[in-house]
Amino acid sequence: MAIKTRTAIIAGNWKMNYGPQLAANFARDIVPELGRLMLLYERIMSILCPPAISLAAVRQVLDEHPLTRIELGAQNMYYEEKGAFTGEIAPTMVSELCSTVILGHSERRTYFGETDEMVNKKAQAALRHGLRPIICIGEHLEQYEAGQTEQVIRTQVLHSLANFSAQRAADVVIAYEPIWAIGTGKAATVEGAGKVISLIRELYNDMYGSEAATDLRILYGGSVTPANIGEFMAHADIDGALVGGASIKQDFVEIVQKTIETLEQ
Ligand code: PEP
Repeated sequence: MAIKTRTAIIAGNWKMNYGPQLAANFARDIVPELGRLMLLYERIMSILCPPAISLAAVRQVLDEHPLTRIELGAQNMYYEEKGAFTGEIAPTMVSELCSTVILGHSERRTYFGETDEMVNKKAQAALRHGLRPIICIGEHLEQYEAGQTEQVIRTQVLHSLANFSAQRAADVVIAYEPIWAIGTGKAATVEGAGKVISLIRELYNDMYGSEAATDLRILYGGSVTPANIGEFMAHADIDGALVGGASIKQDFVEIVQKTIETLEQ
């Protein structure tokens, strides 16, 4: 396989699983092996994204293993700096512990009413505070079946990814997650995901130019497992994965290992 120029990212979205105690226990289970794998292969980044209340506990475990390069990410944040926003977390709070923040996950869009405009404000706030946003986009099953994927993705890209400075545009990570593939055990085909991901890169090229589009990391998400990650990583335009269900098990370590094996071929 041709050497990929962009460093791969395997991010684990733990969703609403593992409070501080269980999160620390699980992190202690996976971090040594994950860290060892990442020492063997430098062109991969792995990011653990536990629930907000467990970030400090996992940060402590990562700090016990300073050589591992494993990063920490939040699953969401608010765009305001501080103030009367009960229950929300500010970018500065996230950046004390994390390098990364997942934004606009379909579960947040569906259950908590997040719009492209809100996601865009959050992404801009993340970039202002030196956080790497992983911005999720993807179509519903009905839209997929009606052949509307391209149109939906176009709209999400134009609105969720608007108004970044040219300088910051390359720091963004996009996760293409067809909603019908999330948590269903029915992953997209590599060809299908690859086609949408190439479209996203083209649209980004139109918005921010070829340098930002070339550096942009685009991940696939939706029922990724140790059995299928190799196929996705073999596609030239897919730069990694956002993993949900399989990220709260030992499978996550296996996914990182399979990714490295594929990239080394
Ligand atoms: C996700 O939650 O972003 C996700 C892709 O979930 P799963 O891997 O379980 O489909």
